[in-house]
Amino acid sequence: MVVATVEGIPLVIGHEWAVDLLKHGLATDHLSHAYLFTGPPRIGKTSLALYLARALNCLNLEGRPCGSCSACLKIGKGLHPDVRVIGEQESSIKIDQIRELQREISLSPFAGRWRVYILCNFQKATPEAANCLLKTLEEPPPRVVLILTAIQAEMLLPTIVSRCQVLNLRPLPVDQVQRALQAHWGIELRQASLLARLSGGRIGWAIEASSNDALLRKREKYLVALEQALCQGRTGRMSLAQQLSREPQVLPDVFDLWQSWWRDLMLAKSGNAHALTNIDREQMVLNEAQHYTLGEIWACLRAIQRAAQQVKQNVSPRLALAVLFLRMPCSSS
Ligand SMILES: [Zn+2]
Repeated sequence: MVVATVEGIPLVIGHEWAVDLLKHGLATDHLSHAYLFTGPPRIGKTSLALYLARALNCLNLEGRPCGSCSACLKIGKGLHPDVRVIGEQESSIKIDQIRELQREISLSPFAGRWRVYILCNFQKATPEAANCLLKTLEEPPPRVVLILTAIQAEMLLPTIVSRCQVLNLRPLPVDQVQRALQAHWGIELRQASLLARLSGGRIGWAIEASSNDALLRKREKYLVALEQALCQGRTGRMSLAQQLSREPQVLPDVFDLWQSWWRDLMLAKSGNAHALTNIDREQMVLNEAQHYTLGEIWACLRAIQRAAQQVKQNVSPRLALAVLFLRMPCSSS
């Protein structure tokens, strides 16, 4: 598969099957009027959507998108008049934004152009906004492509999902992320390998972490919190639960991190230390693994999964964390 590059960086990294499918749709004039790209955060959904927007509006006749014509460049900079990205920064998509989209669509399009609307994180759209968009999906105007992104299709109205072609993106293989970091961002092997493993195949996360220390500092902070929880008694654990519950928006990532830690302990215990995620802490993982039985580690993983599920279902974060900490074993035992 050949994907165009901008300043040496491919427009899309990985997801070859999805790129091929979109290319085939373009080549045979069988594009859908609406797509839904699903997958975990920072996996490349918006990049793929921008790829399709470029392919539709590229000024070159061959090898579209070229990545370098004025249309491709404008799309990359968010300056193309026919390509809109909605909801990327906002905490939700509101009905006014959908009404504005509908108003624009109703104006006659420039001859031969494609209007592309990329609606990011549509699971955060208000019910009113989702219902309003339904009208556009039911009567798709010509030469308009809507691309919705969401973490899971199940988080959207079934009536919306059924009107979209759904492409479910999966995390990339860790070695593909590592190679991309080395080849296109010049990250040295050791760091690229660590970031790729920590990313769990989410290329966007790995790229950001390679230039932004804050993500790794955050990881440090929450690994220390886990350590603290394990060596404290009931009272200490309760106050830690209260403290952590003050930032509920970071909890999904924190639970992922803690799961990676306990999975590493399990790998270490079963002689598979080569597959660790937290490779920069290999010695610590090996030491810690000796403190717990496989049964305790397994129970912990289950408890973290349960807490993550509960927070998703709007159980109070403080309660979910408190229950989780009480289920965790004591590191001194
Ligand atoms: Zn182009």
